[in-house]
Amino acid sequence: IGGHPKPQQGPMKVAGVKSIIAIGSGKGGVGKSTVSSNLAVALAKQGRRVGLLDADIYGPSQPRMMGINKRPASPDGKTIIPLHSHGVTLMSIGFMLEEDKAVVWRGPMLMGALQQMLGQVQWGELDVLIVDLPPGTGDVQLTLCQKTEISGAIVVSTPQDVALIDARKAIDMFGTLKTPVLGLIENMSTYVCPNCGHEAHLFGHGGVAAEADKMGVPLLGQLPIDLDTRLAGDGGKPIAAGDGAMAEAYGRIAEGLIK
Ligand code: ADP
Repeated sequence: IGGHPKPQQGPMKVAGVKSIIAIGSGKGGVGKSTVSSNLAVALAKQGRRVGLLDADIYGPSQPRMMGINKRPASPDGKTIIPLHSHGVTLMSIGFMLEEDKAVVWRGPMLMGALQQMLGQVQWGELDVLIVDLPPGTGDVQLTLCQKTEISGAIVVSTPQDVALIDARKAIDMFGTLKTPVLGLIENMSTYVCPNCGHEAHLFGHGGVAAEADKMGVPLLGQLPIDLDTRLAGDGGKPIAAGDGAMAEAYGRIAEGLIK
């Protein structure tokens, strides 16, 4: 049927990769990429062999957040050698694009790029591959979940109603695609003033926990708004790479992910 994608084949495994965990969100800007990079680094610190695939086609953040941005080599012209940073094997669509150029691709091109990054990158032996998805419920999510064997998905949300409404849709999408939802992570859950210690709930309070309860999915963690987390991400060294309360918080979430 001219121009239409071929009929679906069964989900594929990525050679050498034991499990794939997709990190999604309903809305953009809730911290999905921050959580992806920090979980990847936290898992690597715990001795896992970890890959991170930045599939956020429209806004790839991992080159900046993981502190590495160069075009990966392809000596044979067919396969791509991924980069390495903070103990994590890394591939981002951002390595192949110019930073200020917009991606104006239709679905089939997006799907092609995603499948190349999964199938043609020399991931090597990995315990877990973390996939940083674009926000929402579009072509990339569909392709990934239908064509690749995903162990589970995590949905990141802030406690704000507008974010939660879309997080619910993301969970619903994973349900429809029969991808197990491992749980929700509440990001930006609270803000503690560094001067006076006062705690403020800038985006509301308890919303994600209540939603997790209602939808019957685990709440994997609650992460505060934290200046150092933002600075670390912007500086290319995820906060989980250091030590301190935030690194420990990510460590606890990572521990719960792979038993
Ligand atoms: P998304 O991937 O959902 O679009 P990002 O991870 O890019 O979101 O985060 C958006 C911005 O918010 C980034 O500048 C990031 O550094 C910042 N950010 C994310 N989580 C936190 C947090 N817990 N505390 C402070 N800043 C955060």
